[in-house]
Formats: sequence, structure tokens, C-alpha cells
Amino acid sequence: MTLEEKDKEYVLQTYARDYTNFVKGSGSTLYDETGRDYIDFASGIGVNSIGHANPTLTDAICEQANAILHISNLQIIAPQAELAEKIVTLSGYDMGVFFANSGAEANEGAIKIARKYGETQFETKRYKVITLEHSFHGRTITTVKATGQESFHTPHFAPYPDGFSYEKSIEAVYDAIDEETVAVLIELVQGEGGVEPFDKEAIQQLARHLKSEGILLIVDEVQTGVYRTGEFLASNLYEIEPDIITLAKGLGGGVPIGAVMTRHKSILHAGDHGSTFGGNYLSSRAGLAVLEVLQGLYDSGAVAESHLYFEQKLQAIVASYPHLFEREVGLGLMRGLRAKSSAIQKATVTQSMQEGLVVLKAGRNTVRFLPSITISKVEIDEGFMRFEKAIATL
Ligand SMILES: *Cc1c(COP(=O)(O)O)cnc(C)c1O
Repeated sequence: MTLEEKDKEYVLQTYARDYTNFVKGSGSTLYDETGRDYIDFASGIGVNSIGHANPTLTDAICEQANAILHISNLQIIAPQAELAEKIVTLSGYDMGVFFANSGAEANEGAIKIARKYGETQFETKRYKVITLEHSFHGRTITTVKATGQESFHTPHFAPYPDGFSYEKSIEAVYDAIDEETVAVLIELVQGEGGVEPFDKEAIQQLARHLKSEGILLIVDEVQTGVYRTGEFLASNLYEIEPDIITLAKGLGGGVPIGAVMTRHKSILHAGDHGSTFGGNYLSSRAGLAVLEVLQGLYDSGAVAESHLYFEQKLQAIVASYPHLFEREVGLGLMRGLRAKSSAIQKATVTQSMQEGLVVLKAGRNTVRFLPSITISKVEIDEGFMRFEKAIATL
């Protein structure tokens, strides 16, 4: 049996998979089983935030594995407390953190905090959460219902939990608020929805309005968090103070971890929420190593420099290939090119792979770029050389 046959025989086929078999990586370069190299502009959908085989991360993981990997949350876990402190300090917000294992789970935690807030902090119960069209919040039954894309709410999985509604724009949220609304859940840059950033002033105005109404602002930073948009959090970049923030993808550098943080530290009590694996030694230690690397890079100005460099490359592509791409979208190292059609988008992704470059698709015909935050100029140059070769044939 070939590997592809084995996958098709034994793994449930829930993904439209590419069968390139990557066996190792170094920085932002990947190698397949034949030894061929690829430039990685996808970083495992924004997960490998410090690239592949980063020695700070691999050393931390090996050292931790040799000591202790897991003990339950019924015991104190030293690196978990340290990681929570680190996240809170870097964010600049006075918050407490709960650790989970994925983005969807972090959002589940956020919704639970909001629901209990709505139950306990108002005269009459509030439970409704407003989200936005084109949003993406996860694949569990609840977070798929929170996702503002009708195609995700297939009758196969019904009935879904009540209390979610979707608005077309930030401006439309104001009128949608009623006496049962407890929270508004948004991404500041819609990732899956097409790398679409919202206007800073519109977000700040909404944040002020929600605060004045006593309604919670939940920011899903599963994709935008951990220096992806240039600051530690996109919320920092937008200069807002959300009530609840969720993190996941880039936080563990490839080790599964999710986090929900809130300034309402006393809403949840012992027994209200929990996780067997969340924040164990392995994932917390990995998170600490990732943040150590990225904080150093940010402080040196290298993060801002890479953003600018990557952005200029994309602007040059749009200028040279106006028949393929409408414009460049995104913030920081969360970037996209709006293709003129879905056929162009699809061909760009497939042809790039042929040329040895990994890029992603996103909504609204977007070719998405989520390189590791540590990507070098040499790798960016090489990646864009391959990208131009790929699109030259289109
Ligand atoms: C990826 C993503 C999620 C889901 O994360 P999982 O780890 O796949 O559960 C949720 N929200 C946003 C914004 C995401 O990009």
C-alpha cells in the first residue's frame, strides 16, 4: 500500500488533501521524502510561528519530555502559571488565562464565560452572542454555529445551540443588540474569511459602545494573535481593551494549545470549566519557548522589518500582474492577494506547490500567506521568485 492508499483506507476523509509527504523542515524551508525543498509561506496555517525545528523550541520540548510531560490540572503546573503570566504581561491587559488545546476550544471557553456573565451580571438573563458574516470560529457544534457562514450550518449536524446571529458589518452590530445580547464575538482580521482587516476607528467605536452598554467584546485572536499582525495581539494594534480574548494557532509553535483570557477573572469558579490536557507541561513549556523567541525578535525591530519587506513584495506582484490580482490585503505577516477569480486562486495555489512554494487559500478568492514570524529575507526572496514562476504560466 502506498502512503496515499493507506491514508484513504484508514483515515476518515474529511480533508481535500495534498499528498506531498513532508518529512522535515528547517526555518521556513520544508523537505519532502525525495529531498526536494519548498519555501513555507503557510506555516501549517499560522501555527509554526517560529519556523520548523527552531532549536529554542525543540530543546525546551526535549528537556521537558525528559522531566515530566503531563500531570492533571488538579495539581499546580509551574510552566502553566509562568506562561499565563507571560501572556498577560505581553498583552498589557489585567486578565486571567484558561488553557485549552485548540482554537475552537478556546472559543468554547469564551462563550461559556460570556454565558455565565449573562446569567449572573444582569437583572434578566442574557445569552445571545452576535458574530459577523464571513467569520470563522471553529468546528465544534457550538463554534460552527458561531461561525457566520451559512455553508457551515449544514442540517447534518442539527440541532445547533441557540443564541447566535450574524451581521453583515461592524455598523450593523449596533442595531442587532437586544435585551438578551451578552456579547459580540469578532476577529479583527477575518482570516478564513479572506484576510480582511476591519477599520480601526470602527472597531474602537464599537468597543466604546459595547462598554457603555455593559456588553462583552470577545476578540477571536486564534489566527491574529502572537505577533501575527505586528503587535503581540491584534487588540494591541487596534488599541482596544476587549473583555475576552482567545488564542491558539501560533502560541505553541506546533504543539497544540489554546487559551482564553478575560478581565472578568471571578466569573468562573472551580468546577465551571476544565480540560484534561489544557496547559500541561509540554504545551506550556512550548508556549514559553515560542514567546521567548518572538519577544526578542519584536524588541529588536525584526518583526516590523519582515512585515514591510513581505508587503512590498506583494505590492510588486499586484503591480506586475493586474490581470490576476485585484489587490493586496491583510496586516503584518497575515497577508493575502485577492485573485480575480476562484480559478486563478486555485491555479495559483497548485502551481506554487509545483514550483516548491506552500501558500494557502482563504475566502473571497484570496491567496493567503501566513509565513512564520521568524522567516528570513533570503527565504522571502526565494519564495517570491518561485511564486512569480508559478503565476507566469497563468
Ligand atoms: C483556526 C481558527 C479557529 C479554530 O481553531 P482550531 O484550532 O482549528 O480549533 C478559530 N478561530 C479562528 C479565527 C481561526 O483562524
